[in-house]
Amino acid sequence: MSENSTGTAGTVQQSGDLPPNMVYCTTCGAQIAQSAATCPKCGAVNVSNPAKTSEKGMVPAALLCFFFGVIGFHRFYVGKIGTGILMILTVGGFGIWTVVDFVMIIVGSFKDKQGLPLKR
Ligand SMILES: [Zn+2]
Repeated sequence: MSENSTGTAGTVQQSGDLPPNMVYCTTCGAQIAQSAATCPKCGAVNVSNPAKTSEKGMVPAALLCFFFGVIGFHRFYVGKIGTGILMILTVGGFGIWTVVDFVMIIVGSFKDKQGLPLKR
């Protein structure tokens, strides 16, 4: 009774020769960084660029705004340091500014420092 089943040496097969953070340019087919706004080869707009939305999430921003909104935590979170400080000084625009921001986060029109909408 000889059981000779040594695990077949896993042939490490790379599924897809594209690094995870790379995409193909839809125009010229070159490998370009996913975060690139345009293709460096042909200059076409990188359609798979996810940077049309912020890397900051809507949910954490909403939570920060809800709990710490009067001291501008959600603005610091998205990188808006200047208005965040202003928010501390005005105590969230006497609360009104914070409420406005909170509504804007919820409806998805709150933008991060780069002017990108927050990730859902
Ligand atoms: Zn291209």
